[in-house]
Amino acid sequence: VNEEASAKAAAASVDNGGPTIFDKIIAREIPSTIIYEDDKVLAFRDINPQAPVHVLLIPKFRDGLTQLGKAESRHAEILGHLLYAAKVVAEKEGIVDGFRVVINNGPEACQSVYHLHLHILGGRQMKWPPG
Ligand code: IMP
Repeated sequence: VNEEASAKAAAASVDNGGPTIFDKIIAREIPSTIIYEDDKVLAFRDINPQAPVHVLLIPKFRDGLTQLGKAESRHAEILGHLLYAAKVVAEKEGIVDGFRVVINNGPEACQSVYHLHLHILGGRQMKWPPG
């Protein structure tokens, strides 16, 4: 068993709707390396990068979007905005030759932070299928 994968699975938790560490990042209460921001979204470097470029992109207002599986029709605009912003981030990071956008949804997908986030990964050859 891959130790890192096991640790990640152990860190996975369930959606209790409570505040998360990302609230503190949005409020600048804990430091992060912010690489892109607009009025709706924030992008910052993952503290435990899985690729040379590993950026997390989040909505500033969670509005019930603890995970993609909780999306409702009112979220369509922010979801589209996040996907477009992912492309802007990839361009800014210079990973136009290839990048991957990942959303882990729920415990079985190893989601650990219940504030919707897109992982933007690049800067190395990716493999398929993902683990
Ligand atoms: P998830 O496992 O898909 O929920 O992704 C959560 C991500 O947040 C993981 O890749 C963590 O490394 C990352 N993370 C957790 N806390 C922090 C932090 O304080 N700053 C930056 N990234 C974080």
